[in-house]
Amino acid sequence: MRMPQVVRQPGLPQRVTIYEVGPRDGLQNESTILPVGVKAEFVSRLVDAGLQAIEVTSFVRPSWVPQLADAEELIKAVDLGAVPRMPVLVPNRRGLERALEAGVREIAIFGSATETFAKRNLNSSLDDQFDMFEPVVAEALGAGLRVRAYLSMSFGDPWEGDVPVEQVVSVGRRLLRLGCSELSLGDTIGVGTPGQVAAVIGGFLGSGVDVGELAVHFHDTFGQALSNALTALRLGVTTFDASAGGLGGCPYAESATGNLATEDLVWQLSGLGIETGVDLESLVATTIWMSDKLGKRPESRVATVLS
Ligand code: MG
Repeated sequence: MRMPQVVRQPGLPQRVTIYEVGPRDGLQNESTILPVGVKAEFVSRLVDAGLQAIEVTSFVRPSWVPQLADAEELIKAVDLGAVPRMPVLVPNRRGLERALEAGVREIAIFGSATETFAKRNLNSSLDDQFDMFEPVVAEALGAGLRVRAYLSMSFGDPWEGDVPVEQVVSVGRRLLRLGCSELSLGDTIGVGTPGQVAAVIGGFLGSGVDVGELAVHFHDTFGQALSNALTALRLGVTTFDASAGGLGGCPYAESATGNLATEDLVWQLSGLGIETGVDLESLVATTIWMSDKLGKRPESRVATVLS
């Protein structure tokens, strides 16, 4: 398979982690509901492609997200020890109970940087979301689990518009203080641009947050996802959320197109000589296979060119 010429740039990390969100964030936002066997095969193909962190599903109430209603069944069908990280999203205490019962070793919680999204997504206020997270994170940590936190609307909100950097940093730091070991800054509607990414990440670093605690989650709505990822990379971020084939969007932000496509990110990182552990050919084959199951064409540039 064709690969980019490798030209390294000084100051960049040798290796980064791609946090694959296709099975959860991707499939959650696709209208087609797939059989559990297909999802399990998706996860195992991603493992075979070399992804080291794969968010498998969500223990949200099944009636809320019918696409992921088979979470327990799926967890049973995948090998949770196949890669270092195989987290599940947990929206509340009930979700945590289900996750613990299923034997997962890492959970992710989903916070909001804005008042309006907290209200719409969590039916909570910006402050009150912490009352919900606090016991969940404490119990998860007590059980020896690792906890990642998403901070959605970190770069803009469809109802509120611009979100002040200070607000994003303040809410994000509160999530870290709960005991979360990773904070994923989400450009949920894909409106961020590189200067803004630099400002938000700079805000966190300036407030004493270690860059190793930050991950970034970009959407390609306005074609900025890779530029934003490169900006974060240059600032020292080493964990990047991405979705095979660019699957998914956001049900609360109708304008949002898919996540940054994993294969597009891998192409860029490969050209920079940065290791990800991912085999591009195997990943592209997985994307094409999954697109076929969903009855659509792959959205990513790399899969379109290389298929
Ligand atoms: Mg997303």
